[in-house]
Amino acid sequence: MSHPGATASDRHRVVIIGSGFGGLNSAKNLKRTDVDVKLIARTTHHLFQPLLYQVATGIISEGEIAPPTRLILRKQENAQVLLGDVTHVDLAGKTVTSKLLGHDYKTPYDSLIIAAGAGQSYFGNDHFAEFAPGMKTIDDALELRGRILGAFEQAERSSDPVRRSKLLTFVVVGAGPTGVEMAGQIQELADQTLKGSFRQIDPTEAHVILLDAAPAVLPPMGKKLGLKAQARLEKMGVEVQLNAMVTDVDRNGITVKDQDGTVRRIEAACKVWSAGVSASPLGRDLAEQSDVEIDRAGRVKVNPDLSIPGHPDVFVIGDMAYVEGVPGMAQGAIQGARYVTKIIQNEVAARAHGNVPKPREPFKYFDKGSMATVSKYNAVAQVGKLEFGGFIAWLAWLGLHLIYLVGFKTKIATLMSWAVTFLGRDRGQLTITEQQAYARTRIEQLEDLAASVRETEKAAS
Ligand SMILES: Cc1cc2nc3c(=O)[nH]c(=O)nc-3n(C[C@H](O)[C@H](O)[C@H](O)COP(=O)(O)OP(=O)(O)OC[C@H]3O[C@@H](n4cnc5c(N)ncnc54)[C@H](O)[C@@H]3O)c2cc1C
Repeated sequence: MSHPGATASDRHRVVIIGSGFGGLNSAKNLKRTDVDVKLIARTTHHLFQPLLYQVATGIISEGEIAPPTRLILRKQENAQVLLGDVTHVDLAGKTVTSKLLGHDYKTPYDSLIIAAGAGQSYFGNDHFAEFAPGMKTIDDALELRGRILGAFEQAERSSDPVRRSKLLTFVVVGAGPTGVEMAGQIQELADQTLKGSFRQIDPTEAHVILLDAAPAVLPPMGKKLGLKAQARLEKMGVEVQLNAMVTDVDRNGITVKDQDGTVRRIEAACKVWSAGVSASPLGRDLAEQSDVEIDRAGRVKVNPDLSIPGHPDVFVIGDMAYVEGVPGMAQGAIQGARYVTKIIQNEVAARAHGNVPKPREPFKYFDKGSMATVSKYNAVAQVGKLEFGGFIAWLAWLGLHLIYLVGFKTKIATLMSWAVTFLGRDRGQLTITEQQAYARTRIEQLEDLAASVRETEKAAS
């Protein structure tokens, strides 16, 4: 089936997979290029993942970090936004297959930019996901909000001190930037926003544990900043447990193995998983049809020009690509998008004038540094050789995130939400619904039911 609205055109066709930092920026960069752009993504929005933790902890609303891609590209006439889950790239036939509500659609391309990002990795223990959601999507963040606030609500109704303690224990697995931000915000939510609002429990008694198998907090940011962040978290009341490997996760808690081999249990109703990423399975799809190699995280080992071996018109960028020295951060995807769209622009223009395109220069990544917030008014930042923490770093973090948020209205709305939380102690987005809290379990139950119906039908036929 071809897409409704598709028109025959002899213009160069660029198909982009994904509406994240890589995909959206690729589409925008091609605004003034004489090409037809089709952006296919499985969500209708562009997601600003760095602020997902603020959605999960009730500071901002999901709309502030997930504007509709269609509206962002409304004025870009050469771009069409298509909703669909890409299931296959046919390298020989130069088509992309995407699925929407049971229908398969084929979209032909002349150039393809794959920016499908990465999902959460549970290191082969996918069943952990049911009890410890990750932080990759709006669904994840809203579900976590439901679980965090839901745990306080249940604790208020419990007269059993053991159960109360389990409900008021929050474990965040993974001490990277997301884990640090999440642990800090759960602690602040309990100590500041929720303080005094319950009658049976004291929310400030919540026990937040940040746990990692590695020996340091924020390992990519170096020892000094890691220790700074750890000290700040501990001062706030977060318990940091390092060299602690999670071996099991269930409804009631987690099992941990320490460096000395001791196996212990932490009883906790609410767990958050922020350890490990796994690139989109589309990398494996490419590897099955070509000489593409993928690394252990499923990332595609790309050529120096970000194309894949044997297919100069197929580019892989952002979190899905493995490029030495390029971190899985927004800047990697944004700069990758700028680089590959420049190639497409140059080569389309050269061919239009009957010229042979110039050889491609290799992609060069410019490291703009990294940052993580630890708490209100406190962040750590690394820019080149400069490492700093505290209020200045927090202001820099605030400013940078505002710059990169897409859309003027989004920036204003976010700024107002921040004012509510950072100038006072309230949070404007503490609504939770039954759907948020139970959606994952219910969907899994429906899938199990559908699978058993299929089995029964198969057996009967
Ligand atoms: C919680 C969190 C916090 C972060 N904080 C920071 C930070 O502070 N600073 C920083 O620089 N980076 C941060 N990052 C990393 C940063 O968000 C990523 O590096 C960046 O999003 C990568 O961009 P991308 O375009 O490769 O992938 P993404 O932004 O993940 O976009 C992938 C897109 O592909 C779509 N997609 C996936 N599979 C398919 C499919 N099969 N079919 C169709 N569409 C598909 C998705 O829906 C999405 O639109 C954070 C990430 C997370 C998860």
